[in-house]
Amino acid sequence: MISLQGVKKVFKTKNGIVTAVDNIDLSINQGEIFGVIGYSGAGKSTLIRMLNGLETPTDGVVDVAGRNLAKVKGKELREARQEISMIFQHFNLLWSRTVKENIAFPLEIAGVSRSERNKRVDELIKLVGLEGRGDSYPSQLSGGQKQRVGIARALANNPKVLLCDEATSALDPQTTDSILDLLVDINKRLSLTIVLITHEMHVIRKICHRVAVMENGKVVEQGDVLNVFRKPEQPITKRFVKQVTEPEDTQETVEHLLAEFPQGKVIQLTFVGTSAEQPLITNLIRRFPIEVNILQGKISQTQNGAYGTLFVHLDGEETQVQEALRFIREQQVELEVMTHA
Ligand code: ADP
Repeated sequence: MISLQGVKKVFKTKNGIVTAVDNIDLSINQGEIFGVIGYSGAGKSTLIRMLNGLETPTDGVVDVAGRNLAKVKGKELREARQEISMIFQHFNLLWSRTVKENIAFPLEIAGVSRSERNKRVDELIKLVGLEGRGDSYPSQLSGGQKQRVGIARALANNPKVLLCDEATSALDPQTTDSILDLLVDINKRLSLTIVLITHEMHVIRKICHRVAVMENGKVVEQGDVLNVFRKPEQPITKRFVKQVTEPEDTQETVEHLLAEFPQGKVIQLTFVGTSAEQPLITNLIRRFPIEVNILQGKISQTQNGAYGTLFVHLDGEETQVQEALRFIREQQVELEVMTHA
């Protein structure tokens, strides 16, 4: 369904040349859910923008559903883009239009008659589970419902490919799960090819069949998701895999700490994450159970990531200490522990 050969995208900026995508070869099968993961600046957005013809490659072939998007123009490009849909992190809905009107919008542009539009919109509303919300405005919906509208709108013209640009990054974990379940359901029912870009490995693990890992514009590793999880080869892939498997390691750290740690000392807990995880770290530092006597908390961000440091005194009641440790265990970020005299 999608084949990229030697794809390169270079931007000219005031400060010189930026190679956002550097000689990528990829092929994605019909009906597959394919994930592209990388940190911020890796080139994911540029790649996905080339997949729907929003960006023209500097070099290479971008073949989607039988057309080389690097070469087609005008009417042919518009036709090609009808077969490729996209959903976004911040939904990109029309705020002054209702749910039904948002979903009908691409049909209106395609010149579909009113009665057919209404019929199709009803089907789509059912498909994404928004029954009863058709006349609401986006501002009256939850984040998950807004993304359901985004998905329904993206499916309106029966596309062959659905591109998802960090589609769950603005949602809480529970809502993320329900949207990912919906994508799997749609993939199965419609045999739709889905390409998603993300910086979150749990998204890849939950729904993707295969994954490509991007770093500095290049695909540094790719393969079946299960294999990549079992045997990550590149350091960056190991880091992503650790993002998902870390809670167990954190649990071990905490248990070790409990066994070893004499009451009354101050421990320094440092939560380590990527730059993108800074909001998560800030939030967990804020929500840390206060009873444990937080002496000092601070957040810092460096080029390599974000750190949240807490100095805590584990001299509370046992239940309070347990509560704090339970809280730490639940966190999805890496934890380093140091003791202070
Ligand atoms: P990601 O989506 O993985 O965060 P991007 O594709 O947005 O990565 O960016 C990759 C690199 O290309 C970055 O260094 C970014 O600054 C640069 N870049 C992206 N778009 C443009 C543009 N329109 N002009 C100049 N540089 C750009």
